[in-house]
Amino acid sequence: MLVDAGPRDLFGPTAGHLAEALAETGTAPGTIDTIFVTHMHPDHIAGLVSAGGAATFPNAELVMAEAERAFWSDPARFSGDDTLAAWQALTGAVLGAYGERLRTIAMDGEIVPGLTALPLPGHTPGHCGVRLDSGDASFVHMGDIVHAQTLQLADPSIGVVFDVDPAAAQAARRGLLDMLASDGALCSGGHILQPALGRVTRRDGGFAFAAAD
Ligand SMILES: [Zn+2]
Repeated sequence: MLVDAGPRDLFGPTAGHLAEALAETGTAPGTIDTIFVTHMHPDHIAGLVSAGGAATFPNAELVMAEAERAFWSDPARFSGDDTLAAWQALTGAVLGAYGERLRTIAMDGEIVPGLTALPLPGHTPGHCGVRLDSGDASFVHMGDIVHAQTLQLADPSIGVVFDVDPAAAQAARRGLLDMLASDGALCSGGHILQPALGRVTRRDGGFAFAAAD
């Protein structure tokens, strides 16, 4: 399974190399059967379809929060802004390409057995992370609750212009970072810098990211 699918070619030639990364691991796109979508911003979903609109993963079921699907389902909400209207159109293209292969869940719902969504509303209304627990070990994918980690871990009150509800995003960010610093879970996220696996620690009243060994 995958969590999100990257920006395809939308960010230029240095990003969007999911196909090559999968090939390096020997994973054919047709063998992916579940894709959890943290939220439907274009840098997370463009890789789900070709430039022509065909599904990149012919056998995968898309899983996302119902609140996320619902947020993007009304074109009128985005019609006053060309950028947002284009983003909304891409969500429609993706949902159209996967058709019946869509399963929506509660924001704390089960993605597959053992893997649950983690509600982090605010960046978008249905924005979620992912939590995996196995024995004493846990892994958390933070989604887009952190974009500029040096700034936002030191001061979680710093938002990004893409946060739909900045106050809710700030509360979700603080709550998640506090939880990660307390329980020591291995974590990563959509915009964490390489090396992108690590742990959140407390520093100077804020937080820091310590890369895993
Ligand atoms: Zn985003």
